Amino acid sequence: TAAVFEDDGRTIRINGVKKWITNAAYADYIVLACRTDMSLPAAVGTTLIIVDMSLPGISVRKIGLGERAAIAGTSYIEFEDVRVPADNIIGGRANLNLGFRQLMHNLNHERLYLSTLCNRLSRVCVEESFKYAVKRKTFGKRLADHDVIKAKLARMATRVEQTQAWMESIVYQLTTMSRAEANENLGDIICGLKAEVGNVYEYCAGETTHIFGGNSLDSRSVGRRIQPLADNTKAYVIPAGATLIMEQQMTKLAMKRHAKL
Ligand SMILES: Cc1cc2nc3c(=O)[nH]c(=O)nc-3n(C[C@H](O)[C@H](O)[C@H](O)COP(=O)(O)OP(=O)(O)OC[C@H]3O[C@@H](n4cnc5c(N)ncnc54)[C@H](O)[C@@H]3O)c2cc1C
Repeated sequence: TAAVFEDDGRTIRINGVKKWITNAAYADYIVLACRTDMSLPAAVGTTLIIVDMSLPGISVRKIGLGERAAIAGTSYIEFEDVRVPADNIIGGRANLNLGFRQLMHNLNHERLYLSTLCNRLSRVCVEESFKYAVKRKTFGKRLADHDVIKAKLARMATRVEQTQAWMESIVYQLTTMSRAEANENLGDIICGLKAEVGNVYEYCAGETTHIFGGNSLDSRSVGRRIQPLADNTKAYVIPAGATLIMEQQMTKLAMKRHAKL
């Protein structure tokens, strides 16, 4: 999405598209990251602008996601000659082209928030699997009496507990460090956490699907609670940086920090 100043110097004209924007279908205002200087790399040529979604030239279309993910109003937005007051630049004109840095300040919290969601959904998978396994009988035994199912439940629970403990230690550090110290020291570890919590969620969703068998696919059966959880893993794992990118970023940030030592 590109933004250029009009001749009056007080208005910015925006053109372009944004895809996968959570809540866009319901938003009255959005914070838009725009390229304001195409001659510079995005990291130093991007500006954050508040945009009133009722302005002429804006169209919003919901993206067809699964039932639960669709509630988030994730949308595709098109901007065609949308005129916005230059006063809407976040932090004023002094922050022209500094939007990427502003975005980076928010990413630790956004990634941590998504990590807590994935961890919670993984826990629901364990809970539902356990309840189902002590009820459903196959070959004269409860599922939970088969050793392979016992092992599945133990592995899922172990990974959920491990990642929750890691997450709690990061939250403790984030709330006790100064903002500057946290930005300097926690970015890499939060990327690693997001990647691992996402891996655990995908693992638990897969194992839960096995434990529920055919019922895992039927949203009107006992599987109704886990069917959307298993179907929508990617809607929680991809936003704010997909797993591969998080792993790559973790090492990159750690190398940067190491170079300063
Ligand atoms: C449900 C949902 C909600 C979202 N909400 C928002 C939102 O509110 N606001 C917003 O701005 N964005 C939002 N996003 C966008 C999200 O941040 C991007 O989808 C995500 O960063 C991945 O980018 P992409 O879709 O362009 O995939 P791509 O960048 O095309 O990546 C595709 C695949 O290639 C891999 N890949 C990409 N680059 C590299 C590389 N350099 N090296 C190795 N592998 C690579 C990725 O890991 C991924 O597996 C949302 C996405 C989803 C799915």
